[in-house]
Amino acid sequence: LKLNGFNGIRWYRPLKLEQLLYLRSCYPDAKLIIGNSEVGVETKFKNAQYKVMISVTHVPELHTLKVEEHGLHIGSAVRLAQLQKFLKNVIAERGSHETSSCHAILRQLKWFAGTQIRNVASVGGNICTASPISDLNPLWMAIGANFQIIDVNNNVRTTAAKDFFLGYRKVDLKADEILLSVILPWTRPYEYVKEFKQAHRREDDIALVNAGMRMHITEAEGNWIVSDVSIVYGGVAAVPLTAAKTEKFLVGKKLDDGLLDETFNLLKEDIPLAENAPGGMVEFRSSLTLSFFFKFFLYVTHEMN
Ligand code: FAD
Repeated sequence: LKLNGFNGIRWYRPLKLEQLLYLRSCYPDAKLIIGNSEVGVETKFKNAQYKVMISVTHVPELHTLKVEEHGLHIGSAVRLAQLQKFLKNVIAERGSHETSSCHAILRQLKWFAGTQIRNVASVGGNICTASPISDLNPLWMAIGANFQIIDVNNNVRTTAAKDFFLGYRKVDLKADEILLSVILPWTRPYEYVKEFKQAHRREDDIALVNAGMRMHITEAEGNWIVSDVSIVYGGVAAVPLTAAKTEKFLVGKKLDDGLLDETFNLLKEDIPLAENAPGGMVEFRSSLTLSFFFKFFLYVTHEMN
């Protein structure tokens, strides 16, 4: 069917997951659409042309929002505004130590685009676009979220968020797979999560640098020891970067300001910004990576008391 003015584009809107998977098997190159806040920019301003589009706004399985024993189950087509509302309810109902991640996501969403975009943009659209300046992807990684992926034969596999981003706008999804949902684990007692975003403007602006950090501390012989830590930066490379050497150094250390100098030295090694790095303002952005950690250290020491 060729309609003048419609440029031969096919637009599908399945009502069931099985229909979506069938369409995916017929059109492995089709674009999935939810809020269109990424795809719309690509087609309108970057001359991208997609022949087949599948709107997944009406597939119930992708809209799940469930509280489960091990954490939250968030469907990939859930809108960011819906997620905000859901997280507020969860925080009100659950024990405070369990929801440190929920608080961090909620605070990050406050400065994610503006109301209009959050009303339409989805969790999965943000993840699958894999923008290097996504405000949420470093957080999913730091929090230890898992992604559930379904293929056209209905097989579901789970992968850790930290393994999902493979390169510039490249993710661990095959042509016959789609992102089904995000599993967000509860935090444990004395486990703290914090989000960071620095942009030119507070509202409706993209990040110069952002980050997600998580630390679990345990008491041993009267000292607080770092037992687990995750530090992930966005906006500094093609994919969110984990500060692996810094994490390794911190585990097993006593949590006091004596560890800061060495942490800053290691962070500079873990998160190098070349002089000609895309985005410019290299000195400023490098200092942000250190100051985010300093703020995180202050946050954890404040929260534990
Ligand atoms: P869509 O455009 O509908 O889809 C995006 C991509 O994801 C497509 O390639 C689609 O095929 C793929 N996709 C979607 N769902 C699935 C799935 N289930 N499985 C596989 N692939 C899938 N981002 C930030 O991080 N922070 C900001 O502050 C921010 N501000 C913005 C401000 C404006 C004005 C605009 C236009 C965008 C902004 N963005 C920001 C980016 C954008 O809003 C987000 O990435 C958004 O979450 C994308 O969701 P969507 O539903 O609109 O995606």
